[in-house]
Amino acid sequence: MDAQPPRTLSFPWDNPPETGEAIEVAEGVLWLRLPLPMKLDHVNVYALDDGDGWTLVDTGFDTRKTRDIWAGLLAGPLKGKPVRRVVATHHHPDHIGLAGWFQTDFGAELVTSRTSWLFARMLTLDVQEVMPPETEAYYRSAGMDPELLAQRKAERPFNFANVVAPLPLGYTRVKEGDTIRMGGRRWAVHMGDGHAPEHATFWSLDDDLVLTGDQILSSISPNIGVHATEPLADPLAEWLAACEHLSVLARPGQLALGGHKMPFVGLPLRMAQLIQNHHSALKRLLKHLEQPHSAAECFPPLFKRTIGPGEYGLALVEAVSHVNHLYLSGQVSRSRRDDGAWVYQALV
Ligand SMILES: [Zn+2]
Repeated sequence: MDAQPPRTLSFPWDNPPETGEAIEVAEGVLWLRLPLPMKLDHVNVYALDDGDGWTLVDTGFDTRKTRDIWAGLLAGPLKGKPVRRVVATHHHPDHIGLAGWFQTDFGAELVTSRTSWLFARMLTLDVQEVMPPETEAYYRSAGMDPELLAQRKAERPFNFANVVAPLPLGYTRVKEGDTIRMGGRRWAVHMGDGHAPEHATFWSLDDDLVLTGDQILSSISPNIGVHATEPLADPLAEWLAACEHLSVLARPGQLALGGHKMPFVGLPLRMAQLIQNHHSALKRLLKHLEQPHSAAECFPPLFKRTIGPGEYGLALVEAVSHVNHLYLSGQVSRSRRDDGAWVYQALV
């Protein structure tokens, strides 16, 4: 008879590695941390020992500070061995930020999904000096606070190139169903979705390690956002479908090594929790939408806490993903309000 799955997650480490230091989480697998200048103030990256060199999984932002920390890591915990490969789990700047630097300055190979590479390269080349009209229209449609919208319009927009090193031509593609060797193990490649399209996750075939990127995280939920590039996207449906697919691979004893927060054991439970949290949020949202509301007016039922200015942007794109999901699955209608915002209302 199968043992009952544990009802709580376990966290084998109480503290993350200090900046410039490494924790060996399994033989030949180092956990490193890099700072991020945001509310979510760090990203986890991993260095896998390939004998004559390292494979890095994710890289942090491209900033002077992060490059200096890497220089210290390479000379220190990475023992001066060369970085031969960089694996980017997905295209977000905190993960792929320095991939191009490792390629150009260190001769490393970049391994990632095709969508991650295309998105990262496209966004890095797409430098905007002022907010594009499509972005303004998107924010207005989402019901962004007009004062905040005016303030954002007055600022130079965030550009990928601010924190992502130029990506040279050329990368090696990994896709669903591939096997890759890193750190003395074979890893099955399975694609996540929803947080980022074609988000790579790696499942060790030789022991109990899983590199989950941001698809599955321990104590925060991955941001599921809709952006001006595809205003009618339904990334929540994509995230849920990907998690259903990945949950078949999850076992209670695996150590999950994610892109943020702490490594943990208890993937089946964590995935069930994350999926359930979205279903509960959708239920509360549908109730809230018995009265018409814009996406920006949906923070209380979705987040159940006050959203500060540092997280407003992420909260807004996540709110849009939830109203889009209800709209595209025929549970709410939408209409334009006088201020330009879409307002959503439950159909039943
Ligand atoms: Zn991340």
